[in-house]
Amino acid sequence: MSLAIITLKPGKDQSLRRRHPWVFSGAIGRMQGEVVEGEVVQVQAANGEVLGVGHYAPGSIAVRMLDFGPAAQLPDAAFWESRLRNAYQLRQGLGLTGTGNTNVYRLTHAEGDGLPGLIIDVYGDTAVVQAHSAGMYKARPLVAEALQQVIPSLRAIYDKSAETVPAKAAPGAQNGYLFGGSSGQEHIVHENGHPFAVDWETGQKTGFFIDQRDNRSLLARYAPGRRVLNTFCYTGGFSSYALQAGAELVHSVDSSKRAIELTERNATLTGLENKHAAYAEDVFSFMKNSQEQYDLIVLDPPAFAKHLSARHNALMGYKRLNAAGIRQIAPGGLLFTFSCSQVVSAELFEGAVLAAAIEAGRPARILHRLTQPADHPVSLFHPEGEYLKGLVLAVE
Ligand code: SAH
Repeated sequence: MSLAIITLKPGKDQSLRRRHPWVFSGAIGRMQGEVVEGEVVQVQAANGEVLGVGHYAPGSIAVRMLDFGPAAQLPDAAFWESRLRNAYQLRQGLGLTGTGNTNVYRLTHAEGDGLPGLIIDVYGDTAVVQAHSAGMYKARPLVAEALQQVIPSLRAIYDKSAETVPAKAAPGAQNGYLFGGSSGQEHIVHENGHPFAVDWETGQKTGFFIDQRDNRSLLARYAPGRRVLNTFCYTGGFSSYALQAGAELVHSVDSSKRAIELTERNATLTGLENKHAAYAEDVFSFMKNSQEQYDLIVLDPPAFAKHLSARHNALMGYKRLNAAGIRQIAPGGLLFTFSCSQVVSAELFEGAVLAAAIEAGRPARILHRLTQPADHPVSLFHPEGEYLKGLVLAVE
């Protein structure tokens, strides 16, 4: 079967020539051959020049590019192996593989690794795969084969795409093991020497928020002797670091009961659970009802805006949350505040935090501007891949 061809309207080829990996439906002039959701198509400029190949999907982003130029490689076994090897070698160079200290890292960060729509996180000897597009969903068997070639020590590959693949593209999709299986025992991984129980089968995302690794290390520098409040704690990543760094006490809050159970388990793994208390509660009502003052507060909410249309409300949400947080900081204390909304830029986020400090009537200084770690790389050609931003403030 020959490849279906998508020809762009005149003048709509510039972004592809700059290796931006998305073709928007409005840029399409013509389609030839059988254009099927999740299948590979060739993309041509209006003059017939071949611009590359990608996965087709009906919708606003019509093609997610896999390779560029007239010699673009089709996604066969060799393609997947070379892309995954490239991603793995980057993580090896970052010192994330083969160290006893850290065995949890992101292996592929979608567009950031030239693999639009494909997230793979590694937890010790298990990889967890999430396809965010129909094309990546269909490619999972080839991806799983290639993964075993690139990381021979892998014992299992868990597919968690049922939550992320567009429902129409994968009717009846179910999570499950593509290779190997669960040992049936608790899965303990290590991040910078800190043990964490991870439940990728029932947990949020792939099971752990790997993207806060560097920011947790920074918090550990400031936690000794401090009274710490970790809100939206999920499985208590920041809490465990604070405990092990010598915090005076740590309070963790999350609305999910299951998350709080795992946070408590993880605090127990530090052996310092006597300094820890966890609350399964809404953060806003927790802060409203608490008279306590803390020396260090972490605000790491879920994305308040998933689309541009929700951005204004999200900014109001960040302002309200940060004002509440700032009010609970003891004079001279620190605020670690984050946004993982891709549509809220660092500048807009800083504006919301500024408005919060004004509302709370507390002067503050920026000590650090934070982002996602190196195993969540951003392609220069796809700045949209940057999503995590954070500020560390000293609050007077
Ligand atoms: N900081 C965490 C990741 C946070 S993810 C880490 O390092 O692992 C966001 C978390 O916020 C989720 O666990 C979710 O259950 C929780 N959450 C969402 N809305 C909430 C609310 N209103 N109150 C408390 N927790 C909430």
